[in-house]
Amino acid sequence: MLIDGFGRVATDLRVSLTDKCNLRCTYCMPAEGLDWLPKPQLLTDDEVVRLVRVGVELLGIQEVRYTGGEPLLRRGLVDIVRRTTALTPRPQVSLTTNGLGLAKLAAPLHEAGLDRVNVSLDTLDRDTFQKLSHRDRLADVLTGLTAAADAGLVPVKVNTVLMRGINDADAVPLLAYCLERGYELRFIEQMPLDAQHGWRRDDMITADEILDMLSPVYDLVPDGPSVRGSAPAETFVVDGGPARVGIIGSVTRPFCGACDRVRLTADGQIRNCLFAREESNLRDVMRAGISDAELADRWRAAVAGKRAGHGIDDPSFLQPARPMSAIGG
Ligand code: SAM
Ligand code: SF4
Repeated sequence: MLIDGFGRVATDLRVSLTDKCNLRCTYCMPAEGLDWLPKPQLLTDDEVVRLVRVGVELLGIQEVRYTGGEPLLRRGLVDIVRRTTALTPRPQVSLTTNGLGLAKLAAPLHEAGLDRVNVSLDTLDRDTFQKLSHRDRLADVLTGLTAAADAGLVPVKVNTVLMRGINDADAVPLLAYCLERGYELRFIEQMPLDAQHGWRRDDMITADEILDMLSPVYDLVPDGPSVRGSAPAETFVVDGGPARVGIIGSVTRPFCGACDRVRLTADGQIRNCLFAREESNLRDVMRAGISDAELADRWRAAVAGKRAGHGIDDPSFLQPARPMSAIGG
């Protein structure tokens, strides 16, 4: 098991397959992009699958989520998914994506065993999309969403980050859009993880504000804590159900005490938290030839030192050196 000093057990592995992206969401990276990791530093497909296998076979990982950067840009993605779903015990395998290219890949990914997708969509307005992501690609994202549902990657989940004065008017239209199509919408509070270090607490739309925007239009009844479990989203039954909407109050309603996650970066570093300041380099020791059992020992040690919480509200909080796109969101 991967257990930390507070008794939390990590069973959910987030794997970043690339730090590259074809969008430039302002809360994530600057318009000019970033210096991407050089190829030799990236894990190969075989290295990714080996580490995931060690997690699943030796360390109790039950869920694997591929992310990035934009994971659909990883050429070997379908094969990596196929090899992951062939592991025993079979983990749940999902993908977090901006949806660009999903129209083509949804069916092959489903065939390879992918269970679910989360598609990020922050607005339904073409101009706002362009302003927010610096690319005119809204139509492609919407086509990707439809393709995911048609391919059976259900329930399709949609992730939205709201920003004051940019897309805060989109909360109600996005929920209406998702309810109509059977997608599960989850709003995520903006976190200080952008490469530009431009996050300001006052600009963040809080979970309370999101509820205030939705409540005049929809009847929202909170699910009990048993439904939330270690899941970060607080969920609400909409208009009597069965549809639900989620709100992830990462900053104002932190869920660190129930966290069951561990992260593997595209260059083979284990991070025990999005906001961790230290990483454990499994890539280099793997390339030096250590055994699966030794990899598992190092991974356990990396998780053992996990801090109690992200401490965003602590005056001594320091944003991690790596941005979200390089950690894997
Ligand atoms: N490119 C893929 C995508 O956008 O879904 C996967 C990687 S992205 C880093 C994963 C998720 O993190 C997205 O839903 C995105 O909206 C979210 N995200 C990125 N930067 C964030 C921030 N500063 N605060 C909160 N969520 C953020
Ligand atoms: Fe790319 Fe996802 Fe970051 Fe947007 S949030 S820039 S789609 S990695």
